[in-house]
Amino acid sequence: MKRPLTIALTKGRILKETLPLLNEAGIAPLEDIAASRKLLFDTTLDGVQLVILRGSDVPTYVRHGAADMGIVGKDMLLEFGAEGLYEPLDLKIAQCKLMTAGFLDSHSDRPRLRVASKFVNIARRHYAAKGVQADMIKLYGAMELAPLMDLADEIVDIVDTGNTLRANGMAPLEHIADISSRLVVNKASMRTRHDLISALVQKLSVAVDRRGEERG
Ligand code: AMP
Repeated sequence: MKRPLTIALTKGRILKETLPLLNEAGIAPLEDIAASRKLLFDTTLDGVQLVILRGSDVPTYVRHGAADMGIVGKDMLLEFGAEGLYEPLDLKIAQCKLMTAGFLDSHSDRPRLRVASKFVNIARRHYAAKGVQADMIKLYGAMELAPLMDLADEIVDIVDTGNTLRANGMAPLEHIADISSRLVVNKASMRTRHDLISALVQKLSVAVDRRGEERG
């Protein structure tokens, strides 16, 4: 029997917005993902399964062909690279911005700017492009804490409403990139399973457009 076509989904906020979109495209998990500790789920579409991963692992699974397709934030693709992947569709969900942020009245004694982020590759490229010499500190959560505790002068983080920053006395400073979730496809799968994958891309594309029209 042929291996099921596997779609890697990003858990958390992106997953919540992904499931209704997949549903509109005719793919629904056979059991409630939120109520289960399983990681692999069969779906209503015969021969298609879902795997639930951390966003940073989705490009890796798809690049190596362990999953044929994936849904992942553009921030992850910018940070970890998109080699070996096609990116055929912007799903226009989980929209936010990648920005630098910090205190408006910051006055650091350090000779070089210190930047804390989960996105150190994106941050390094951003400051280098501006000609600013900056040292990077890799963090895994609660980036807003770093300037508050004087671990760093600025952070590079995801901003949606800006409320998290404001609640901690900071402000967004520079816009780096607009972020949304993208559909990615393994390059070899695109050749070997072209008919099924292009039909799914087409269905998702119709669902994304329909939503756009509804929003006006
Ligand atoms: P906000 O306070 O609305 O600016 O939201 C900021 C925080 O929410 C960030 O620190 C992120 O961790 C998280 N966040 C907001 N939007 C997204 C998104 N689309 N994807 C992942 N995390 C997000």
